[in-house]
Amino acid sequence: MAQSVKEGVVVSLAYELRLPNGDMIDQSTPEEPLDYLHGADNIVPGLERELEGMAVGDTKTVVVAPEDGYGQYDPEQREVVNKADLPKDFPLQLGMTIAVTDDEGYMEEAMVREINANSVTLDFNHPLAGQELHFSVQVVGIRDATEEELEHGHPHGVFEDEDYLEDEDFDDEFEYDFSDELDDDEDELEDDDDDDAPKGRR
Ligand code: ZN
Repeated sequence: MAQSVKEGVVVSLAYELRLPNGDMIDQSTPEEPLDYLHGADNIVPGLERELEGMAVGDTKTVVVAPEDGYGQYDPEQREVVNKADLPKDFPLQLGMTIAVTDDEGYMEEAMVREINANSVTLDFNHPLAGQELHFSVQVVGIRDATEEELEHGHPHGVFEDEDYLEDEDFDDEFEYDFSDELDDDEDELEDDDDDDAPKGRR
């Protein structure tokens, strides 16, 4: 019996994602589809809901509102960072995405929004926050998930890089660990004869 998209299946999806103005910002082809585990929050809720019940070969156009996509844009998610807290040779560029580790060890991506003489404004909103998302999708394959995939909450590839789904759109070219700065107080207690060491040392 032909399968349809439902909780607990791995779906192979070809899609195009466009902004309302028609600009294409992401896609996957039928030859190299995106695999995701249905019902596990691997994709935005507004798209996942609309894929429910589709069969292999079905196509659909789905418009996803920001609140069912990457959320509304939140101005509070901007943070001004002291430029002196960055390493001197840090290759700052407007619009670049950097990985920031907070003091609890969580890694978040931030976009460099503004570069001023003494400060840098980082934007922790998802780059697609506030956007209406226009998907056109085709279901290319459906299979039952393995026990391990259900446990992990994501599909595993044919190759062993099992956590590729989380990492695939992650631009780790510029990683910077801000936790050194955030932990400064502790550091100073430990080595208080070290006042003139350059900031941003590892
Ligand atoms: Zn896994």
